[in-house]
Amino acid sequence: MRAIFLDKDGTLVEDIPYNVNPSLLEFTWQAGQALQILQQLGYALIVVTNQSGVAKGLFTETALQPIHNRLCERLAQYGVTLAGFYYCPHSPDGTVARYATACTCRKPMPGMLLRAAHEHGIDLSQSWMIGDILNDVEAGRRAGCRTVLIDNGNETEWKMSPLRTPDLTAQNLYEAATLIAREHAGRQGQAPAGGELAAP
Ligand SMILES: [Mg+2]
Ligand SMILES: [Zn+2]
Repeated sequence: MRAIFLDKDGTLVEDIPYNVNPSLLEFTWQAGQALQILQQLGYALIVVTNQSGVAKGLFTETALQPIHNRLCERLAQYGVTLAGFYYCPHSPDGTVARYATACTCRKPMPGMLLRAAHEHGIDLSQSWMIGDILNDVEAGRRAGCRTVLIDNGNETEWKMSPLRTPDLTAQNLYEAATLIAREHAGRQGQAPAGGELAAP
């Protein structure tokens, strides 16, 4: 099984910092269609999102459930199903003691991707991470995935390193999906002509 790991805020939905109000969720441009394309290519779709608002005491883990539900409802309108929704509730700057920790799941660390791979039997080398900041790219690379950076202005620091260099760059999630689809088509075009001929 291969997967697309998706950042949520700024990639799949418009970025509203620390939002847990499901009625404010809005897909980025053509995000539903983008996930349709990726699902048709045979990818499991898995959200991996940093939610440090939990550690900062802005909302509880329970408050993320309606967000997940709403996402699933909206995606169902496109015939799209999420295979997983993973979040990191931690932050080293948190104020809620039990979450105020340096963890291995907060992107740029790859913990959420590794856990998802384990739980869903995913081949990380056949998988992609798509996100709108370089921490997403780094998490993807650390997990052994290829990566797409959505270059939409949300990355502001541009601290580059080999681990933070994306394989592809796109303007939005829809373009990212079309680039991955094109990559598939290219691979099929180059595939050696194996197979068996039918008897004449
Ligand atoms: Mg983001
Ligand atoms: Zn964490």
